Amino acid sequence: MKEGIHPKYQVVEVRCACGNTFKTRSTKPELHLEICSACHPFFTGRQKLIDTEGRVERFTKKFGAQTSEQRKTAAKAVKATKAAATKKKTATAKSPKASASA
Ligand SMILES: [Zn+2]
Repeated sequence: MKEGIHPKYQVVEVRCACGNTFKTRSTKPELHLEICSACHPFFTGRQKLIDTEGRVERFTKKFGAQTSEQRKTAAKAVKATKAAATKKKTATAKSPKASASA
């Protein structure tokens, strides 16, 4: 190693927002994390919403809280209206030649 060009590589304490701490080595004096292996859903197996910008809150404010049942019925209604629309379209559709020349 060349002298005087490498940063100091030392043992540091890593602190997570969940309260977990562990030691590793880094050139930084200390590390702060928002998520670590003790609280990340991949490792915990629990579903956890990582919502840093309040997007979910804004959505529920705008559209109200939804249950899966409500969404299912809404999707069904959309499908039904779409099916009706496509039926109408095919009935009144122009021939492919006419739309190509336009
Ligand atoms: Zn954590």
